[in-house]
Amino acid sequence: MFKKRLSRAHEASFNRIMRRTFLWPMGVMVVASLSLAWLVSHLLGLTNWVDHTDRVIAEARKCEKLAVDMETGLRGFLVTGDPALMQPFNEAELQMSSELDLLGRQVADNPFQNERVETIRTDYSKWLGHAEEMLGHRQRGEDYQSIPLNAQGKALMDAVRNEFTSFVKDESVLRDERIGAVQRIDRNIRRLRWIVLALAGLGIGLYVRKQLSQVASLYESALTTAEQKTEALQISEGSLREAEAKLRQYNEDLERTVAQRTAKLQETVSELEAYSYSISHDLRAPLRAMQGYAQVLQEDFQRSLGPEAKVYLDRIINASGRMDKLIQDVLSYSRVARSEIKSEPVDLEKFIRAIVQEYPAFSKTNSRIEIETPLPRVMAPEALLSQVISNLLNNAIKFTPEGTSPQVRIRAETNNNDVRLWIEDNGIGIAPEYLARIFGVFERIPGERPYEGTGIGLAIVRKAVERMGGTVGVESEPGKGSRFWILLPGRKL
Ligand code: ADP
Repeated sequence: MFKKRLSRAHEASFNRIMRRTFLWPMGVMVVASLSLAWLVSHLLGLTNWVDHTDRVIAEARKCEKLAVDMETGLRGFLVTGDPALMQPFNEAELQMSSELDLLGRQVADNPFQNERVETIRTDYSKWLGHAEEMLGHRQRGEDYQSIPLNAQGKALMDAVRNEFTSFVKDESVLRDERIGAVQRIDRNIRRLRWIVLALAGLGIGLYVRKQLSQVASLYESALTTAEQKTEALQISEGSLREAEAKLRQYNEDLERTVAQRTAKLQETVSELEAYSYSISHDLRAPLRAMQGYAQVLQEDFQRSLGPEAKVYLDRIINASGRMDKLIQDVLSYSRVARSEIKSEPVDLEKFIRAIVQEYPAFSKTNSRIEIETPLPRVMAPEALLSQVISNLLNNAIKFTPEGTSPQVRIRAETNNNDVRLWIEDNGIGIAPEYLARIFGVFERIPGERPYEGTGIGLAIVRKAVERMGGTVGVESEPGKGSRFWILLPGRKL
């Protein structure tokens, strides 16, 4: 938990201190354990040597006893002549040589004692030679006591025994030295262990205390940093909240202002629309009068008019006709913008077929309007929808190059409850720079003289579709026809 809240630098120092806190005491313990192990093995070695010396002394005593047994047996037989007394002599002789070998091997590491064993072996061999000779004398009944051999034998056996005594004595000295060393080490260990333990304990304790105090100061500095950070965070949180509140306030003010301005704008637009509607409407009456009088002049005063006057009259009639069309279109646009919307179920297929039959221009013999069935049923205001479709069909047929028969295809795509209606033609197409502009009021593509129009048809389409909550668009290329679409979201039944 603590570590998780530490910064990187603090964490590195914390790890370093913790590592040191454990590693050093562990190192001391390892060294102490190794020293102890060495001492124990040294002690065991010394004890083994003491055991070895005991075994050597025992072996030397055994050999000495065999020598004594042999001499006793020999003496007994020499005195009594009883062969039974020779038994210890014979038994000891059998063992003596191998036991001396064993003794020699045991002191192989001690040249001095080894030499002594060799001396014993030589003296013993000589004695054995004398003894056998003496035995021969005795068995033959000769005087064996006065011969010098007897005295020499005794001297040899004394020498052997003395050697054994010195041998055992030296071994005993060695043994005592080794026992002394063991006792000394034991005593030192007993005496020093408390001092060593106390020193090690004190050292480790002081060391751990120092490390812990470092950890504590590290913790303190980490805590201070954390506190500073928290404080800074709190301050920035506070100012953030303040800024947020201000922003919310600005937003609310902005929304209110936008709503007020939009309402005002809508009011102005509606007023303008009403004004333009009434002006358009009022303009039609004098226009009609003008047209009417011009026609009367043309029909009733035909004879008294000169050819020039006739041309002027024709122009007046044509111009006022165009003007009337324009006013009618403006009135349609206003109607679309202002009419009340009342949606009802519409079977698109039947609906479009009826429009096609209703308008004579659509059923021209050379034009072909293909409806890709089935078309979906939609919920829409009939009047607006009819205006949209007839305007689009009108353009699709109108904007075909001279000498080409118009071919129009109507199809629909549905996505969940959204309906996209496509009206595709094989007409003149539209250059990319005009694709977005043509939906504006009075927007026409310059240089399209042969095609009559006011530039309001597509503006009416856009207005009507927008009032149905939809969007309108076109894909086209000059010379490759146009594909107009209207998207009516959520209108599918
Ligand atoms: P109008 O048809 O009265 O000129 P519209 O608003 O209906 O006005 O169309 C605006 C312009 O868009 C047209 O003048 C024409 O240049 C272009 N346009 C509309 N429909 C098509 C079409 N189907 N193919 C080619 N051009 C078209």
